[in-house]
Amino acid sequence: MARNTTRKTIRQRLDAARKGRAARLKSGRAQAKADAEAGHGELPQWTKAEIEAAFRRFAAANPTPRGELQSINPFTLLVAVVLSAQATDAGVNKATPALFKLADTPEQMVKLGEPRVRALIKTIGLYRTKAKNLIALSRKLVSEHGGEVPHDRDALEALPGVGRKTANVVLNVAFGEPTIAVDTHIFRVGNRTGLAVGKTPLEVEMKLNEVVPERYRLHAHHWLILHGRYVCVARRPRCEKCLIADLCKWPGKTVLSSPA
Ligand code: SF4
Repeated sequence: MARNTTRKTIRQRLDAARKGRAARLKSGRAQAKADAEAGHGELPQWTKAEIEAAFRRFAAANPTPRGELQSINPFTLLVAVVLSAQATDAGVNKATPALFKLADTPEQMVKLGEPRVRALIKTIGLYRTKAKNLIALSRKLVSEHGGEVPHDRDALEALPGVGRKTANVVLNVAFGEPTIAVDTHIFRVGNRTGLAVGKTPLEVEMKLNEVVPERYRLHAHHWLILHGRYVCVARRPRCEKCLIADLCKWPGKTVLSSPA
């Protein structure tokens, strides 16, 4: 009886110490420091086994993840992704139904003209530049690609307003290529967890291409974006709901690596 009580007391003390440590890690300052380390690619890289475990869990929880930008064909997907730069998907989705009703092909977009496109997307940040780019890229699609979105990285990146990230999204979603577009969410998740550490989005993308097993590559983009958008958010990540908390290397996480 006495021995049982002693064991219970020791366990309670250990639990209290673990909880205390987790609570200390919750402080905003500790998390900012941890993010600074993570953002510089300083945390340890996951092992093959850890990467396999993480993706097995993502796949089991959401076998066919989908992006949240609404589109009806490759052209409207390209338009939506161009509009989403430095804007939220929800904000883009509010503006695009009216735009796509009038123009869901490059020819129609050119015909609509820049002033009307500008008026239709004015709720989205940087709308003036984006309207100009949408007209210019539509013209180029008509004149150089027969009005089709090219299934080719170089051709996509040569379109006005289209960079590597946009090309990766289009290649993945419209053409089923196993590309991973590293946005702010994936950059954070890759570095915090240890899945793909790197100092720049391009470094993280290259690392992801190197370490993510082939069979998970097609959906990796959406699993990681959704994880970063809804669970591993920038401020106050929801570590208590995180599928991969035990694998995560981020010193700022608010749960412990191994179950208490
Ligand atoms: S435990 Fe999960 S939510 Fe928390 S920092 Fe790590 S990956 Fe992000």
